[in-house]
Amino acid sequence: MTTTAPAPSTTTPAPVAPAAPTADAAVALHPVPSGSARITGGFWHERQDVNRRQAIRTGYEKLETAGNLQNLRIAAGTATGEVRGPIFMDSDVYKWLEAAGWEYGREPDEEVLGWIREITDIVAAAQAEDGYLDSVQQVRGNGERYVDLPWSHEHYCAGHLFQAAVAIHRTTGETGLLDVAVKLADHLVATFGPGKTEEVDGHPVVEMGLVELYRETGNRAYLDLAQWFVDARGHGIIEQHGKEPTYFSDRVPVREASTVEGHSVRAVYLTAGAADVAAETGDAELLAALTRQWEGMTSTKTYVTGGIGARWDWEQFGDHYELGPDRAYAESCAAIGSVQWSWRMLLATGETRYADLVERTLYNAFLPGVSLAGTEYFYVNPLQMRAGAHTDEERSAAHGRRPWFDCACCPPNIMRTLSSLDAYVATTSGDGVQLHQYATGTVRADAAGGVELAVSTDYPWDGTVRVEVREPGTGEWELALRVPGWAEGATATVAGDAVEATAGQYLRVRRTWSAGDVVELVLPMGVRVVEADPRVDAVRGAVAVERGPLVYCVEQPDLPADLVADDVRVRVAELRGARAEHRPDLLGGVSVLQLPVHRALGAATGPLYRPAADEAPEQAEAETVEVPAIPYYAWANREIGPMRVWLPRA
Ligand SMILES: [Zn+2]
Repeated sequence: MTTTAPAPSTTTPAPVAPAAPTADAAVALHPVPSGSARITGGFWHERQDVNRRQAIRTGYEKLETAGNLQNLRIAAGTATGEVRGPIFMDSDVYKWLEAAGWEYGREPDEEVLGWIREITDIVAAAQAEDGYLDSVQQVRGNGERYVDLPWSHEHYCAGHLFQAAVAIHRTTGETGLLDVAVKLADHLVATFGPGKTEEVDGHPVVEMGLVELYRETGNRAYLDLAQWFVDARGHGIIEQHGKEPTYFSDRVPVREASTVEGHSVRAVYLTAGAADVAAETGDAELLAALTRQWEGMTSTKTYVTGGIGARWDWEQFGDHYELGPDRAYAESCAAIGSVQWSWRMLLATGETRYADLVERTLYNAFLPGVSLAGTEYFYVNPLQMRAGAHTDEERSAAHGRRPWFDCACCPPNIMRTLSSLDAYVATTSGDGVQLHQYATGTVRADAAGGVELAVSTDYPWDGTVRVEVREPGTGEWELALRVPGWAEGATATVAGDAVEATAGQYLRVRRTWSAGDVVELVLPMGVRVVEADPRVDAVRGAVAVERGPLVYCVEQPDLPADLVADDVRVRVAELRGARAEHRPDLLGGVSVLQLPVHRALGAATGPLYRPAADEAPEQAEAETVEVPAIPYYAWANREIGPMRVWLPRA
């Protein structure tokens, strides 16, 4: 591993963040302006490169072979036949377009721009005269619209279109898709709201999309409609369709809810959109309700990976502490929604805990959703796979990652997140710059008349983050570096002088800077052994192993032939001394942890139920084997088989 300082920034435009509050928004932090944060090397840059070279290219092909583009052509009348796939097929097109848009911002490319234009034309042609657009409904619906909004995803598709249109406008300056979005948004404004059709879509996302479209166009009607959609929930609208409301996040009004519940993606897309509304309207009561729900989610309904959604049944959150590892759902899209929500809460409050969850979720709940090759995906992300696991459904992880799904929400969602990742690195607060995520690259901000920072790090393998001030600006300003909550014992220096770094807070340095000043943050990279609240019964008596921002797992290919991952037991005291070893040859280059483990005595021989002893049986004679644990995100890239994050104590 070498730490290479990034090349000086170029003038190439790069993405402004998804969710970019207006200057008047009630937020503590703003994303850095367009083109100002770039990841230029290291861990995430490699993932972004693969996303660009493999995922976005194959995604373009999949939109054709899976029928998404043909559906739009049929709706436009330029092709004939039956539309294919689920009712939200258009949303896959829009998420892919958004990915391509952010990607063009990262690095302009005529081929990508050509694809954007080609697909924009296909989308535009399908749009009805009055702005309505939903290809599947247009063809299958016999002229009917919005007759079953709890299920029809018509607003959901619109929301994704708005996000794509904004991304493409921000990075290319082209208005083709934005024109389509505005026409559809105007149609929604004319159709929905108080005194009009008082209905909400069963699947939120239009709220986020409308607020972003407001930010891009200045049309306040879009913000007002988003606000109405947020406030209309929880008042029986969906129940009037004979549906049970919990699944749809419609049981309790958003501003009264104390936790997240129901379908996990719907729930966090709604809260993310509500956070956008709260930011733009200065609604402190709504923000307080969202804070409460975020705390409820993170204290009782979040996996150690950051994944959310414990139940396969209806892709839902479980009850409090219902977080079983083997049938964890933890949909890749839910992880993305959680990142989107936490990002908005971070902007609103400037609190490190939100950036902490973004980090945990990106590395351990989002990234496992895509293969190292960038072409295959997990829909669900269990924390344990048993020997002989059964492939019961298309989305089962027991299949291994798959190139696409009949319900293909996750793949293009992963693409757009990787393409826009630069935006989550840093923010500005007027007279300061905050670094939230650590990656080699450059950050420019308007603070103090214009500053530029160069960050170099081998994170997440190494804990040293070096920030060099390239353009010092004028006068005093504050540089803030997030010290993650897990980083007890972090140290830091400013221009060579030691300063205090406290876990779970920003390291704040306010001074008049000179070009060449360096702040160095050293995060402790020892092994951390964690256990869950005992109310998480499913993993009681088990521990997980973390290092830096990464959660680790034990996977079968790394175990001796006569030891199945199911039977691994550990002793906590022994784990604390586990060595980290960087293995450039393994899984694209990972640091493994050499864990001493034990075989469960009698695990495979005794009866299913046995007389209980007064004390746990003494297993001092159990043989110790040292096995490499790998970062959980990298599992299932060699073969699909037994794996576990939670390791029972011997
Ligand atoms: Zn999904």
